Amino acid sequence: MAHHPDRIVREAAEALGARRNAVALTGAGISVESGIPAFRGAQGMWEKYDPMEYATIGAFLKDPARVWTMLSEMVDVFSRAAPNPAHLGLADMEKMGVLRSVITQNVDGLHQAAGSRKVIEFHGNTEELVCLACFRRYPSRERIREGIPPKCECGKILKPNLVLFGEKVPWVTQEEAEAEAENCAALLVIGTSAQVTPACDIPLISRRKGAVIIEINPEETFLTRTITDLHIRESASVAVSRLLEEIREILPPS
Ligand code: NAD
Ligand code: ZN
Repeated sequence: MAHHPDRIVREAAEALGARRNAVALTGAGISVESGIPAFRGAQGMWEKYDPMEYATIGAFLKDPARVWTMLSEMVDVFSRAAPNPAHLGLADMEKMGVLRSVITQNVDGLHQAAGSRKVIEFHGNTEELVCLACFRRYPSRERIREGIPPKCECGKILKPNLVLFGEKVPWVTQEEAEAEAENCAALLVIGTSAQVTPACDIPLISRRKGAVIIEINPEETFLTRTITDLHIRESASVAVSRLLEEIREILPPS
């Protein structure tokens, strides 16, 4: 049976507003409208830098200076980006007591910039640099200012504290994300192709515990036909804004 788009948004708003126990899982797609290109349907800087060639730990260990040509451009794109209505809307949902937390695969810091307080950065961030030889850590800005590639006092080239392909998600982060995934009544999956492990297990974990899976993506993904209950086929900013309007109608004013 074909679902009317407005019906889907309303049902999703009810699932979020009625139980007030939702978690969001976000991917690169939520930041596209902030001017940061996603991997899939590669645009912008990813035409120049194939992520499989540049964003792997193997590539970094082999030639960190080369990987830094990509990283410095990425950090630059991030520094010029601002949160869009989707990031801001999720922060509002948290303030309204509807959303418990955001699990993000992004490393751009835009959820925090939007005012979200509980953010689990599944793949780390670029705020901090770490030395793989002596484990010293530095704030990115300060070291990058001294030149690219940024170096440790021991002489080694530093790595941003993010999870490259081929690296493990820190155990504590994984545990924390899984606990959120297990204990929510609704999971809002926004702008992820759900192909990167182990992040792609999060929706399965929530689903197994009986959560409603709401997907926001202009395209279909691997989740859409398998475990998604409600697919809002719009861009992140449009869908989150519409959801918020509906939730405000359902919830009593606080
Ligand atoms: P992905 O690139 O594999 O998929 C992006 C998804 O977003 C696609 O399904 C696409 O249809 C959807 N999308 C595109 N525009 C959208 C919009 N306006 N609104 C909603 N959805 C939209 O992204 P992924 O699944 O997150 O996996 C890529 C990996 O690379 C992740 O680890 C990701 O964090 C990282 N990455 C991060 C950034 C960032 O930090 N902003 C940018 C690129 C890649
Ligand atoms: Zn060092």
